[in-house]
Amino acid sequence: MRISRNDNCPCGSGSKYKKCCQERVEEFTGRLLRAMGTGISPTGQEIARTLGLWCGLQLPETGAPPDPELLGRLMPEVWQVRDRDAVPYDQFSDLLLGKKHLRGLRIPVNLLTDVKLRADEDVDLEGLRQRIIDNLPEGFYEFASYQMALSMRNDPYLDEELKTLLAGFSWALVDQKTRAVLASVVLEATLTELAKAQQEFAALDPDVPDTDGSVGNEKLRRFFASHPSYDNFVSTQILAKVDPACRAIMDSGALQAPFYAIAGGCYAVYLEVLEALPGLSDEQLAAGLPGDKVLQILRDMLWRRDECLYFLPELRKVIAAWPDGDHPGLAASMQSLRELLNGFFMSSQFKTAETFYIDCVVGLINNGPRSLPGVDTPLSGPLDLCSPDVMEPYLEHLAAQHLTDEAAHLRREYQAWAPRIARQYASLVKTVPAGEQ
Ligand SMILES: [Zn+2]
Repeated sequence: MRISRNDNCPCGSGSKYKKCCQERVEEFTGRLLRAMGTGISPTGQEIARTLGLWCGLQLPETGAPPDPELLGRLMPEVWQVRDRDAVPYDQFSDLLLGKKHLRGLRIPVNLLTDVKLRADEDVDLEGLRQRIIDNLPEGFYEFASYQMALSMRNDPYLDEELKTLLAGFSWALVDQKTRAVLASVVLEATLTELAKAQQEFAALDPDVPDTDGSVGNEKLRRFFASHPSYDNFVSTQILAKVDPACRAIMDSGALQAPFYAIAGGCYAVYLEVLEALPGLSDEQLAAGLPGDKVLQILRDMLWRRDECLYFLPELRKVIAAWPDGDHPGLAASMQSLRELLNGFFMSSQFKTAETFYIDCVVGLINNGPRSLPGVDTPLSGPLDLCSPDVMEPYLEHLAAQHLTDEAAHLRREYQAWAPRIARQYASLVKTVPAGEQ
């Protein structure tokens, strides 16, 4: 990897390289090269420079870089392996599965969507390997070398293990052939890890309490949280399956949730828009919702402020009653979506619920609220949702329907947001005509 003095420092500080980590990197690299001795090939020097960069950077992660003299002593021993059988595939694979900071070095799961993990299913490993190698994202090998250096800085290593890791490190940099070797070992480790997680998942009984007492969905949720690669793998497959159904529903524009299930999100976005309005350029106004900040607000509202407790049951109801459509592929996708939403314990479910929630809130805001059950007059705009004349009859209506928790949630959000929205609106109305004069 080449970096010039005026580039931003790869440590992420935001300063220029020359003013940040350059000196440390050069010192580390210099000591490494001296310890490697004379007669180092240009490839060897290139590898030492990359190693020196990743080890010399001041990184926020804990852990210290390994001793450059030790690395320099071990490096020539790594090169001396000429015998093909002595190439440490298995040892490197053990490191990938065993060292904590190498767990991030895996084949991206979106390249594995159609892979079967069960041993009794036919896996064309050679075909798969070739396809993976051909499709790895640009930057994968640089990322791999960075992950390995991160592991050197943070994981405990015996000298023999360090030699194995240095071999892997050099595979990432030498040429296409050695890169293919690295990709193959990473692929095997990825598949081994996923297959092991799948076995554990198959043996997991949600009804038997865990050591920490969690059962049911909570136990499953914890399982997926502690097996992120497997969660990612399964979730990527599921998201691909439910995608046609999600698209069909959202394209129809007919998805609606009762206001009490999305009230917090709507209020939070109204206030955000009103507060941002005076500083927005015409282009930003034209770009409209949802910007990144609005998306973040909605995610927080759904998960941290627990609007999910009211939104998810409604979403399940709506999707359960949604027509399958005539297309057999769409019907199957719709069925998968219903199954997905009835579980609720892995990232694909969180992502799907989030997408629908954002769609419902943004839909209501863009179209404006028209009516609410129990409210006689039609609504003229968002401010009506902050008015007691509208909200009190609606809350009474919910109580009459025995929607007690829902009404309590709505009252909480309404009382928290409505006065702030009204104040902000009043200040805008006051300032806007003054500015136009
Ligand atoms: Zn830096």
